[in-house]
Amino acid sequence: MPMGICKLCGEEKELLKSHLIPAAAFKPLRAREASNPNPLVVTNDWIGQSSEQVAAHVCCRGCEDIFNEGGEEWLLPLLANLDGFPLYEMVAKAEPLFRDGEVALYRAEGIPGFELGKTIHFGMAIFWKASVRDWGTKGREIYVDLGSYAEPVRQFVLGRAPFPGRMCLGVCVLPPTVPLLATLMPVQTKQREFHRFKFYVPGVEFALNVGKQVPPEMLEWSATGVQQIVSSSPEFARTFGRNYVDALATARISPNFSRHLKERSRR
Ligand SMILES: [Zn+2]
Repeated sequence: MPMGICKLCGEEKELLKSHLIPAAAFKPLRAREASNPNPLVVTNDWIGQSSEQVAAHVCCRGCEDIFNEGGEEWLLPLLANLDGFPLYEMVAKAEPLFRDGEVALYRAEGIPGFELGKTIHFGMAIFWKASVRDWGTKGREIYVDLGSYAEPVRQFVLGRAPFPGRMCLGVCVLPPTVPLLATLMPVQTKQREFHRFKFYVPGVEFALNVGKQVPPEMLEWSATGVQQIVSSSPEFARTFGRNYVDALATARISPNFSRHLKERSRR
């Protein structure tokens, strides 16, 4: 293992191969019977089915344990997989604060068994990791620029500081009526007044809003706000679908995946 400065704790240690998104989040995506069983991975400029893990030597063992115990161990087994979606089942048992069709808002503390702190840590650790380097390979960029907010996020992930000011994290659990089995690497979305970053693991969308102009109601009605809201909405799958269609027009598509699309359109 190479020695180096761990990006999280800042100490010189042996560095482990860290995954930007934990490998276990990809496991349920491997279709059992497809000719290419690898998960669909979407970045800003590339779409393909890949078994390649987005990983780099970034953190020491102690800090990897912080990621594991902070949220990964709890959340990963609850993500959507080919057999079901345990986290959705947990959320759906709770009484929503608000419901309109498939869109519902829940107070996190009202969901039996739900660990809000672990969910927040999981999300923030991935946004932070995405900000410390470009994780892309072969000319694909996987990076988000947190600017001056990167340091307070690092302190929070380390457990040394409370959740940073002027930002809020949205957690949205998708209903199983929409296709869930994909992954979106962290991206920055177009937004005028403040910065918005997103990533998606099977069944759960994380959106981080950052900046002085994040609206107060957004700060209050979020997973990290006073109201501690977890939402459930199929919206992400729809925009993901749209992004995917847009991306199909402009992104470089891996040769294997484009063969798969052609085969599928012939059926
Ligand atoms: Zn460390």
